[in-house]
Amino acid sequence: MQTRIGRHGRPVFMKPVNKPKRKNPMETEKNTNQPFDLHLHSNCSDGSDTPAEVVRTVAARGVSMLALTDHDNIDGVTEAMSEADKIGVRLLPAIEMDAEWPHELHILGLDIDINDKKLTDALETALKRRSLRNQVITEQLLEAGYDIRPFLGGETGVVTRLNLAMALVKGGFATDTRDAFIRFLRKGCPGYYNAGRFAPEDVIKLIRGAGGVPVWAHPLNGHPDPHKLAPLLAEMGLMGLEGFHPSLSEGDSQVLTSIARQLNLIVTCGSDYHGANRKDVFPGQTWRDTPVLGECRAYFEARPKRKIR
Ligand SMILES: [Zn+2]
Ligand SMILES: [Zn+2]
Repeated sequence: MQTRIGRHGRPVFMKPVNKPKRKNPMETEKNTNQPFDLHLHSNCSDGSDTPAEVVRTVAARGVSMLALTDHDNIDGVTEAMSEADKIGVRLLPAIEMDAEWPHELHILGLDIDINDKKLTDALETALKRRSLRNQVITEQLLEAGYDIRPFLGGETGVVTRLNLAMALVKGGFATDTRDAFIRFLRKGCPGYYNAGRFAPEDVIKLIRGAGGVPVWAHPLNGHPDPHKLAPLLAEMGLMGLEGFHPSLSEGDSQVLTSIARQLNLIVTCGSDYHGANRKDVFPGQTWRDTPVLGECRAYFEARPKRKIR
């Protein structure tokens, strides 16, 4: 593989040209590595599309296996599942949960039993913490002279910090959501409040208890050293790394894949699609026809399909 140095001083990996493709002896007649996307949000959290719309949009892009991973809730799974069954694509019931240690980190719970009592109880606790946090942030911003209350309230599901950022933009206080996070919502700013989160080992235990596969989402966001954290999370029972995500360069994905190989973890791909709320992202965009993602697809395909009661 050739490399050159890109605009930001990072190596850019280029595919070799005009090289005949060598047949992989392990390749079977049926190539199971077709596009999939295991990180998608609906309006049950901070996406803009209904769960059924997410499934239709994803399927229209040729993605045949997907996971709806709304933040701290599974409200959209039943609707998504019935749409997926209608269209004929495989849906993994899933979730994205917040954890804290030593910084905020997100863990996807893929292919979970959405009726697991311990999980649903924990989600109620998380929802209460979130509502308290949103209320305190709104009050703190008001005290600092930024009234976002008129620009909130249209949300149909769990209100996340992205929703608060969008309210700051609508109110004319921030130029875009990135600006809102940097100037208002991050630690040390008037719109920061932490109502507490689960420890990662608790989240991992909850997901595994619900029969699911815990995967560290977008591992480099706020965590520059996955070499240190991934082994600790793997000790706790983590089963995968999201090695392909819009926030990761090709080089990052290679590093994460090699960490996953050492720790015997699955590597997943996800777009973190939020519909119109993140316009530069589209479903399936992080899928690659690479062996590591072929293994991931085969792993999930081999699991019995969950029935939603
Ligand atoms: Zn996340
Ligand atoms: Zn996400």
